Amino acid sequence: MMSSSTDPAFERVLPSRLTAADRLQIERRVQEIGRGLLDRALAAEPTAASSEWWVQQAAEWATQDDDLKVRLFRLVDCMPMLDDPAALDRHVREYVDDDVIERLPRSLRLAFQAARSGFLAPLAARAIRSATLAQARRFIAGSSPREAAQAAVAQRRHHRGFTLDLLGEAVTSEADADAYAEAYATLLGDLPRIAASWPADPLVDDGPGGPMPRVNVSLKLSALDSQFDAIDPRGTSDRVLARLRPLWRLARDNGAQVHVDMESYATKDLTLAIFRAIAMEEEFRDWPHCGIVVQCYLRDAPGDLEALANWGRLRGTPVWVRLVKGAYWDYETVHARAAGWPVPVWQQKWQTDACFEAATTFLLENQSVLRPALGSHNLRSLAHGMAAAEHLGVDRRVVEMQMLHGMGDPEKDAVTAAGWRLRIYMPYGQLVPGMAYLVRRLLENSSNDSFLRAGFVKHVPAATLLAPPRPATADAAAVPRVGDGDAFTNEPLADFALDSARRAMQEAVTRTTAAFAAGPIDVPVVIDGRRVATAATFSRHDPSERARRIAEVSAASAADAIRAVEVAARALPAWWAAGWEHRAGILEQAAAIMRRRRCELAAVEVFEVGKPWREADADVAEAIDFCCYYAASARRLARPARIDVPGEENATAWLPRGPTVVIAPWNFPLAILAGMTTAALAAGNPVVMKPAEQSSLIGLRLHEILLEAGVPSGALAFLPGRGEEVGPALVSHPDTALIAFTGSRAVGLAINADAARASAAAGSRAVKRVIAEMGGKNAIVVDDDADLDEAVVGVVHSAFGFQGQKCSACSRVIVLDRVYDAFLRRLAAAVHSIRVGPACEPGSRMGPLVDEEARDRVLSFIELGRRTARQAAAVEIGPLADRGWFVGPHVFADVDPASPLGQEEIFGPVLAVMRARDFAQAIDLANGTAYALTAGVFSRSPAHLQAAARDLAAGNVYLNRGITGALVHRQPFGGYRMSGIGSKTGGPEYLQQFVVPRTVTENTLRRGFAPPARDGAAPADG
Ligand SMILES: Cc1cc2nc3c(=O)[nH]c(=O)nc-3n(C[C@H](O)[C@H](O)[C@H](O)COP(=O)(O)OP(=O)(O)OC[C@H]3O[C@@H](n4cnc5c(N)ncnc54)[C@H](O)[C@@H]3O)c2cc1C
Repeated sequence: MMSSSTDPAFERVLPSRLTAADRLQIERRVQEIGRGLLDRALAAEPTAASSEWWVQQAAEWATQDDDLKVRLFRLVDCMPMLDDPAALDRHVREYVDDDVIERLPRSLRLAFQAARSGFLAPLAARAIRSATLAQARRFIAGSSPREAAQAAVAQRRHHRGFTLDLLGEAVTSEADADAYAEAYATLLGDLPRIAASWPADPLVDDGPGGPMPRVNVSLKLSALDSQFDAIDPRGTSDRVLARLRPLWRLARDNGAQVHVDMESYATKDLTLAIFRAIAMEEEFRDWPHCGIVVQCYLRDAPGDLEALANWGRLRGTPVWVRLVKGAYWDYETVHARAAGWPVPVWQQKWQTDACFEAATTFLLENQSVLRPALGSHNLRSLAHGMAAAEHLGVDRRVVEMQMLHGMGDPEKDAVTAAGWRLRIYMPYGQLVPGMAYLVRRLLENSSNDSFLRAGFVKHVPAATLLAPPRPATADAAAVPRVGDGDAFTNEPLADFALDSARRAMQEAVTRTTAAFAAGPIDVPVVIDGRRVATAATFSRHDPSERARRIAEVSAASAADAIRAVEVAARALPAWWAAGWEHRAGILEQAAAIMRRRRCELAAVEVFEVGKPWREADADVAEAIDFCCYYAASARRLARPARIDVPGEENATAWLPRGPTVVIAPWNFPLAILAGMTTAALAAGNPVVMKPAEQSSLIGLRLHEILLEAGVPSGALAFLPGRGEEVGPALVSHPDTALIAFTGSRAVGLAINADAARASAAAGSRAVKRVIAEMGGKNAIVVDDDADLDEAVVGVVHSAFGFQGQKCSACSRVIVLDRVYDAFLRRLAAAVHSIRVGPACEPGSRMGPLVDEEARDRVLSFIELGRRTARQAAAVEIGPLADRGWFVGPHVFADVDPASPLGQEEIFGPVLAVMRARDFAQAIDLANGTAYALTAGVFSRSPAHLQAAARDLAAGNVYLNRGITGALVHRQPFGGYRMSGIGSKTGGPEYLQQFVVPRTVTENTLRRGFAPPARDGAAPADG
């Protein structure tokens, strides 16, 4: 007996009036229609003479070998950049080495062998490049509007409609966004006039209730705003709408149609909201020629469709909904897993297919408000739509099928021959963005789950191809998650694409603003659990709004510092005796409290140090990570390391070092303070915690949280105050065993010197240990084959995130000569588009500097830059200067590597750009400072990536990504040379710096007999 169409669970995801009998009838027709479509398409299957065959084969070869697939697709991706014969030759050799060449199919092997050897090599390499670029062009309908229009007319000759989509480079600047909008304006201005003279074609032109617009365009909203970000829905919508409205007007007045594409999940809700907003505006409310996309691989798809239908009824005029499965399945899966977020896409292919069919039925049943456009190359999915439309008696003119240019041509003829309107999605534009599109298509075609591959390459039987989507007997194994198999997983960052996350943060910001309005918060010195009255206090003001006083901070004296260390020394025995497990539990409890108060803590940072929302949230998440990570490290240290031999037992256990002074910076005001403090506490050391002057309030919150979690008051003193006043007293106290410091190089070296002097002083009983994380002058190298879109985004983020006030921040970019000017142009445009504003506003990409001193120091470097280099970008901050300590981002080009701009840590939004003649010189320049903290490279040359990994002098080296944002456990953080002493924070050896190892050896032999060897070990606590 035939089963009904989809899995029963999916029949209920959307309301439908279809009965089981209806579904059975529809399924029968699906099989008939599907067979008809398949037979016709297979009869016209591509042959080796057609280029489609070659695309399918290339994808097929690649599918058999994952490593080969990665290499070939990566080579394809960088082809357009390789217009220089030497570069082309080098890349071909690097990607297709001796090992790879053996695994290639014969025809490709011969081509690559020729490209790698003999006098014909340059010719063969060029032939490979042109063949690859020709394949990319297959998916693109031309590089100019004129060529695209010609390709569109050709589609009409096949009785197909079209929708044109402009492929663009990533929009990283407002200039890019303007150019994108302008290109559409030209298209919408010119093409409808030309289209009016085309001969009518009823199959293409007859729509519901009248003619369909002949010109149809598809566009991406993220390309209409360089700062498109769901964290700021209002600002983003305003900017997008300002560019979208004129385009809609043009389309409406000239009789064209505009379709809004759907991109990544992070932009989905905002894209839907903007679409609904504009379609509801009075001037467009009765305009039916607009549309939106719903991606059925999303678990949200059913809910979004219902919401759209309800909204559509309110609007009163229908809109088109293009159903697709979705183009970014791999990205969404990997990205969500890496971030620790719920994966938004279905994990099994049949679920996506079933969702597509349920969504198709829903659209057909609601066609008076949502016009169905089914975008798929899966003939089962389309046959289902055709059968359901027939069964429901839906006029064919109300529905359309859609397919992609350059793919599945035999299927297209089958669909039009069956009498359905078919529209072809036709990207046009330049080859560089075209390659990304080609790689997406290759990925799709080479997927094991692809219908095209199953039908036209693997020749899977028709019954299987047309089977209703249901769970396979053995469903795919779960995709491994980042952290699977580890005891530790990172605290996920807030996903500000979600309304709930934005609302929670906004409420915390509002509450915190109200609290400050009632007066500044008192930040006391706390020793042994008691507040200490101090003679001196100082005020802390919001750096975004310096009139707002947020804290009145008690300043500890040298005498307070001495007493705090003495109390810590007295607390040592009991805190050590509490045991490793007890201390680890307290740290986890502290993490739980931080989780509960996460938004409130982030809001304090927003006002106290001017951290924009995302940065503040990440800092709290990292503090939670440190608590959990060091708790896990402590449990490992609880077990002595044993090496027993017959007759002898050896146990190495770890003891606390003693009173620990933690001196923290303001730039990661919770995370770094929490990291150093919890590591010391976990190891059994009492701590005197000295927060930075600028971030005493968040320091107080950490102190409260740790005491609430169970740290005894004697084991944790809180000592806000002036570093110059309390620092020397803390460091040189004879009982201070360890100083954990993060901050500037000058202070770090001074602490090291003071500690050494105090260790050598008369009466000293131990050598003080210093752990110091100091600065960096971090460089990113941009190679001449780099993806410049990615490089610009990575550099901007690394250089200007938190206003450049991170020790990991990028402050130098070293660019290969061949792409220097192009990169600099794009970088400058991107920097000019950065929005600077108060940190409490979610739309501010950059907030203020931390205080007046920081601002003045940075301004002096800008002055120096103007005198000694070429200013390539400078964002003026206007009236913000009167409100807070704002400095706009600045980029200086042609910087002398030996100059102060090229050598000194600036700790602000000032970026130096330098030119390198070749890659080796670029690495030399990158290594040419006293620091070695972070460094990165953007390159698509495997050999250069290897060289960078080997030769860049930095504790953290990043390839093809930004150089900030190290995660606990995944990227243990810290540098060497003048960047620091000690092992990496958030890494496996960090805690060992806070303990002393002690080995006990016992001779267990008595009169010739020894006990059996131990097989376990007891915890080593006192
Ligand atoms: C006219 C048109 C316009 C388009 N516009 C957009 C757009 O705006 N936004 C967009 O994202 N895409 C868009 N696409 C691309 C489209 O999403 C893909 O081409 C499509 O998903 C391929 O599906 P299919 O039905 O043709 O093929 P099939 O082979 O049946 O399905 C492949 C799809 O299944 C899904 N899938 C694969 N593996 C799994 C798995 N393990 N678990 C769950 N699901 C899985 C993926 O979505 C994959 O793309 C458009 C496509 C067309 C034809």
